[in-house]
Amino acid sequence: MFKLDLSIVIPLFNEEESLPELTDWIARVMERESFSYEIIFVNDGSTDDSWSVIEGLRQRNPNVKAISFRKNQGKSAGLNQGFKACTGEVVVTMDADLQDSPEELPELRRMILEDHYDLVSGWKQKRYDPITKTLPTKLFNAATRRISKIKLNDFNCGLKAYRLEVVQNVEIYGEMHRYIPFLAKNKGFDKIGEKVVQHQARKYGTTKFGLDRFVNGFLDLGTLAVMGKFGRRPMHFFGAAGSLMFLLSVALLAYLGGFKLYLLSQGMEVRLITENPLFYILLTLTILGVQLFAVGFMAELLLRVSTKKHDYTVDAKIGLD
Ligand code: UDP
Ligand code: MG
Repeated sequence: MFKLDLSIVIPLFNEEESLPELTDWIARVMERESFSYEIIFVNDGSTDDSWSVIEGLRQRNPNVKAISFRKNQGKSAGLNQGFKACTGEVVVTMDADLQDSPEELPELRRMILEDHYDLVSGWKQKRYDPITKTLPTKLFNAATRRISKIKLNDFNCGLKAYRLEVVQNVEIYGEMHRYIPFLAKNKGFDKIGEKVVQHQARKYGTTKFGLDRFVNGFLDLGTLAVMGKFGRRPMHFFGAAGSLMFLLSVALLAYLGGFKLYLLSQGMEVRLITENPLFYILLTLTILGVQLFAVGFMAELLLRVSTKKHDYTVDAKIGLD
């Protein structure tokens, strides 16, 4: 099947001023390299004139395609929807605000095709953003590096390139766009590279993310760390924790009971077991243990009815389509 050289997916929310400049710049680079390409704008419920601007751009440039959400759904949803529409052998995502440069596109494409990377992530080594953003970002990247064991300096760069297969197999939900390399790795696409990219200060409009991005970001990281390991076998996580607590409570009970029997056999004065503080710890452990076990069991049942349970990365098929 004929494949375009490049699909460029651009999620956008209220970026009307940047779009014409961005489109023309991409077109210039593509013509220079004689690439066949498509630009897929995903209009994430913009409340300004972004959509009519895109319609105008489409008149001038037939390589412009677009999807529009009725309301704002977030960058992850935009990327996910854009990915479903891609047909290029290499897919690149970039932000609409002109902070990423289209001049990087040819080299990103070359790294995927010739260096055989599954994913190449941009690295804004020199950033033009306020310190309130760059400092927490450093922390965020360090934590993500540790937990994902992927050696990237800059996880959240909007400019990234993928082999088509990768975007067809990775589902980006919630606000997981920050962790696409991690999602890809969990799906078995582990040849992940990095390229230093130019970064500009925002020319028009304002940033769409506030400081809550960091709180949400870290919560998502926790989810991913557990999901990657136990997402398909929750009982191994909850069951193990539950059993451990249960066993501990049994041990405590044996100790309390045994000790009391011993005292009795010695003819000594005994107190009620319920008067010992350890009894309450025992009680809590029993309840927690049973609950965790039950949660694990419920999770297994959920997994059984979930339509995505066979959502594994299929490498090849024969005699099937
Ligand atoms: N964006 C989006 N939906 C949103 C928020 C942002 O599609 O709900 C787009 C935005 O228009 C831009 C990209 O995601 O193209 C990155 O956003 P922004 O430049 O505000 O993020 P920053 O550069 O500050 O990290
Ligand atoms: Mg930006």
